[in-house]
Amino acid sequence: MAENIIHLVLARTPDAPAGTKGISLFLVPKILPDGTRNDLRCVSIEHKLGIHSSPTCVMSYGDEGGAKGWLIGPEMGGMRAMFTMMNNARLNVGLQGVQIAERATQQALYYAKDRVQVKAIIEHPDVRRMLLRMKTLTEASRALLYYAAGQVDRARLGEDDAKVRADLLTPLAKAYGTDIGCEVASIGIQVHGGMGFVEETGAAQHYRDARIAPIYEGTNGIQAADLVGRKLAGDGGVGLASLIADIRAEAKDARLLSLVDLVEECAADILKADMDDRLAGSYAFLTMTSVMTCGWLMERQLRVAEAGIAAGEGDPAFLKAKTVTARYYLATMIAEAFGQAAAVKNGAELLYVLSSEELAA
Ligand SMILES: Cc1cc2nc3c(=O)[nH]c(=O)nc-3n(C[C@H](O)[C@H](O)[C@H](O)COP(=O)(O)OP(=O)(O)OC[C@H]3O[C@@H](n4cnc5c(N)ncnc54)[C@H](O)[C@@H]3O)c2cc1C
Repeated sequence: MAENIIHLVLARTPDAPAGTKGISLFLVPKILPDGTRNDLRCVSIEHKLGIHSSPTCVMSYGDEGGAKGWLIGPEMGGMRAMFTMMNNARLNVGLQGVQIAERATQQALYYAKDRVQVKAIIEHPDVRRMLLRMKTLTEASRALLYYAAGQVDRARLGEDDAKVRADLLTPLAKAYGTDIGCEVASIGIQVHGGMGFVEETGAAQHYRDARIAPIYEGTNGIQAADLVGRKLAGDGGVGLASLIADIRAEAKDARLLSLVDLVEECAADILKADMDDRLAGSYAFLTMTSVMTCGWLMERQLRVAEAGIAAGEGDPAFLKAKTVTARYYLATMIAEAFGQAAAVKNGAELLYVLSSEELAA
């Protein structure tokens, strides 16, 4: 479909040390500048759970003597070069979670209005719970992603604080955005009942497509390790403290402010903990920090929506719905995030009681 394909390949030079430190990045074209074919081929197309219109393949390089590549950046600087691409990709994948969540929500709402069980299922309280949760989580994750993207733009314009904020938010945006993509797509299937499990409705496709996002561009577990390692411990908690200060300066909701206190307390515990304890609680910490940030952004949206309603400006239906989703987020998601603190604080306690053999038995 294209005249040429260039592959960005991580590979090791002959005397490079073991591990990630020895990796370099190369540009390896399918067609060489003299018009001949390079020594590379696609060995197989992978059969995947989802994203079928984005084929992925296994590549083989150098079967017939050696593929030619051009070094990108310094030798053994491959991981660093890859991160240049990955930071951007992490936000995009987070957004992929939001997009799938939005599509799944629209489809579930459409179905729930139409499907009758005594009355349209959208009238049943538990279906309403699911729909409101879908809508709320989608809006909250979108707020986080847009806010993070705004910080990236500000950083590009030279604002140093924005660079620190964007770096801190990137693992949150990637992991929380993609977790929400999966959760919302899963609820979408539930709203469809048995038809959700049947492919024709399309609800299952959203779930299958969403499932890759917590895995690629660094699994969400690795995002959590990045948060407590490079981001939190890397600057001694300064970047997080600045985010917390901004939230405290603006937030009014008592539940949100309590969560802020708890995040601050957990961050202090993490900074004091040894590496294993730090990592054991990292995922829960990432989730609660994401919820804190989303709670702040949703409360901000609530204020704007209320002001719009009071002034008779804007689309009243949109603004009314926004006040409900924002209040629902503050009332339910913040409460759920309190539970994450227990996992941060006591995270490591039971994880290593069983040996790896006992765990696998
Ligand atoms: C559809 C698809 C498209 C892809 N596209 C690309 C692409 O374009 N380019 C590319 O380079 N790669 C691509 N990948 C690869 C993808 O980025 C990796 O699969 C992903 O980063 C996870 O690495 P892994 O598969 O080696 O899993 P592993 O590293 O084996 O991880 C397995 C599990 O162990 C956990 N784990 C591993 N190490 C640690 C640790 N140190 N601490 C805590 N937990 C850990 C992980 O979180 C995960 O839950 C693609 C993969 C898929 C499925």
